[in-house]
Amino acid sequence: MSVSEFNLIAHYFADRGVRRDDVALGIGDDAALLRVPDGMDLVVAIDTLVAGVHFPVETDAAAIGHKALAVNLSDLAAMGAEPAWATLALTVPDTNAQWLDDFSRGLFALAEQHGVQLVGGDTTRGPLTITVQAHGFVPRGQALRRAGAQPGDLVYVTGTLGDAGLALLALQEAVQLPIKDKNYVLQRLNYPEPRLAVGRALRGVASAAIDVSDGLAADLNHILAASRVGATMQIERLPLSDVVQAHFHTIGEWIVPLASGDDYELIITVPAARQADLEQACAAAACRCTWIGSINARPGLHCLMDDGSEIAAPSGYQHFTAS
Ligand code: ADP
Ligand code: MG
Repeated sequence: MSVSEFNLIAHYFADRGVRRDDVALGIGDDAALLRVPDGMDLVVAIDTLVAGVHFPVETDAAAIGHKALAVNLSDLAAMGAEPAWATLALTVPDTNAQWLDDFSRGLFALAEQHGVQLVGGDTTRGPLTITVQAHGFVPRGQALRRAGAQPGDLVYVTGTLGDAGLALLALQEAVQLPIKDKNYVLQRLNYPEPRLAVGRALRGVASAAIDVSDGLAADLNHILAASRVGATMQIERLPLSDVVQAHFHTIGEWIVPLASGDDYELIITVPAARQADLEQACAAAACRCTWIGSINARPGLHCLMDDGSEIAAPSGYQHFTAS
């Protein structure tokens, strides 16, 4: 069954989900009218998911809806921002009612969870592509940035690493997983949970932050470049789920947790004097947080084993790198 494009917006996207007081005008006019609270900086992030590039074409539509918003909320989390609004540019090859139903349900479920109102968008026909822009607030001057890490700071990461990477290996049939393990890592790949509570709690505590979208090593390198510092990472400290641990030897040991993307955890640097505050903030947000290394003045990222030997730091996924 298909729906007319005219009805599509009204049926699936308008007047749905949370209603916020700071939205003077939402979906339905030529543009939305939004009110940024006094004393707040507006924080804006945008990300596009292309079918076949960012997710396998056969991915469940609810997962695509969730993930399209989640990756943007993850960027807001990494800035220490509180999310407020989203816009959606949706390009679909056809108007499949079941697909739109599932997609919008996935998107609105996550939006509701974080008090985000969908305030506008655009709908076009073409190869399946989803762009979401998320908007949020942070008290003026308090955003967490990539620049700000100092020699002596400690490096932490939330959650566990490599689950999404293992899910991709399973989807490519490069590894065989028992169904329970496969379901666990697929959930981690398809339904990432943006670490918004942790990000907010780290304002005034963390010296720098970034979310892990390209891979731990690649994203930590972004902090190092922006902060003009180096780091040593204690590879054997990287937090792994039971499932990744169970398949650790099959998947080449540390390469997946270090280099695979899509985990949407936060990398956080913190001055040693604020270590207790960081651990308290993570505990209050009920989020696992693990020390994985230290910032130093010597440039570059050095990946150390517990016996002191160094392994090569892998690079992450890049769209425009010539191979
Ligand atoms: P215009 O021609 O002015 O761009 P549209 O028909 O594209 O108007 O959009 C009409 C209204 O519906 C606008 O408020 C727009 O923001 C909203 N809208 C369009 N597509 C979407 C969508 N996929 N999700 C949410 N809002 C949408
Ligand atoms: Mg339009």
